[in-house]
Amino acid sequence: MQPLRGTKDILPNEIQTWQAIHTIANNILNIHNYQEIRTPIIENTELFERSIGNFTDIVNKEMYSFYDQGKRNITLRPEGTASIARAFITNKLYNEKSINRLWYLGPMFRYERPQKGRQRQFHQLGIECIGSNMPIADIEVIKLATDILKQIECKEQYSLEINSIGNLQERERYKVDLVEYLKKYKHELDTESKNRISKNPLRILDSKYIKTQEILKNAPKLKEYLSNTSLEHFEIICENLTYLKIKYKINNYLVRGLDYYNYTAFEIKTNNLNQQNTICGGGRYDNLIEQLGGPKIPAVGWAIGLERLIILMQENLNQKIKKNRIYLAVQNLQTSDILWDIIHILQEYQIKFELDLSNNNLTKQIKKANQLKAQICFIIGENEIKNRSITIKWLQTRTQQTIKLSNLRKYIKYLKTFNNLT
Ligand code: ATP
Ligand code: MG
Repeated sequence: MQPLRGTKDILPNEIQTWQAIHTIANNILNIHNYQEIRTPIIENTELFERSIGNFTDIVNKEMYSFYDQGKRNITLRPEGTASIARAFITNKLYNEKSINRLWYLGPMFRYERPQKGRQRQFHQLGIECIGSNMPIADIEVIKLATDILKQIECKEQYSLEINSIGNLQERERYKVDLVEYLKKYKHELDTESKNRISKNPLRILDSKYIKTQEILKNAPKLKEYLSNTSLEHFEIICENLTYLKIKYKINNYLVRGLDYYNYTAFEIKTNNLNQQNTICGGGRYDNLIEQLGGPKIPAVGWAIGLERLIILMQENLNQKIKKNRIYLAVQNLQTSDILWDIIHILQEYQIKFELDLSNNNLTKQIKKANQLKAQICFIIGENEIKNRSITIKWLQTRTQQTIKLSNLRKYIKYLKTFNNLT
């Protein structure tokens, strides 16, 4: 049996990486007063249609939608922001605080052609800062993305690209002129862009086709349609990024694939030239919550694709993994209730151990402890059971000694102090 195309098992030897990412995110975000939120994986299809936009790739061709037994039209969430905006409204989180800082980590689903860094079930870590229209919120959010990437120690260089896409009115005026210009070159555009002229002309700006890019060079520029308010918002962000020594590049062609963004749009890309080089995407969305039936509350956020991030991570994160330090070799599993007293103490001192469950003879069990590279083997043979004692064998030096169970706590305290036992 194979897993579904575009889905993957995350195996025990990878899980520590995932947990480490969760811990790093939790630590950094917690300090900044971001709180974790977990929303359902299934939502009404309408939520995504109304937020992400009907002419976007996601809604148009990538959603996993189905009818349930109650004939409800349901979708496996393709991203996190729409669900969080929904949860924010449903639970009236705005009544509790004027600023809600939220973060999430979980699986997302998009029907796409699977390739390196592109799956049908993938994971995003994301944050949303809801309740402020100040540029400082955008800066806090961008800074947190770079802080997390720094702590995770990507082995490759990455760069931040930002743009201002203005507000809805500014974009509408721009769209009219852009479409008029592009229509003149319609026959020279790539097929995808040709289709987008009527449906989603802004997305043509980030076309990967050289010919289309050339045509765009002389097209009207979005920047020239922005009001002073939009431009000022953007300038403040740029100035602060400079102060924070966060390197950025202004990319006038950067537009995000989702309809709900305004003002700030940004991406973090690796310098790797393969197609899946965007690890983080985000921006400001001041109208989404109102559009979904909530109050008019502005917000800004981002999402990082974790599969892509993990490809870039340095292996050293794995070296911090706790090894099994103690192996428990027991002669007669059935009658050795002393075993539970030992386990109780190891648990109390938070020492990682593994109990041999084979019922093999002791020699074989000790051999296993060596193979597994345990530090110490606790041997509990017949004599030990009779005398309520433990033989402690140091596997590297092969020295051993027998102690009374009643002295085990003292012995472990000694180990923890002098032998760096964790
Ligand atoms: P792309 O242009 O690569 O399709 P996107 O614009 O669709 O990206 P967003 O919706 O902004 O991506 O999602 C944010 C991040 O989530 C992306 O930068 C990427 O790291 C990750 N991501 C998106 N789709 C996938 C996928 N199918 N598989 C793995 N990661 C993904
Ligand atoms: Mg995509």
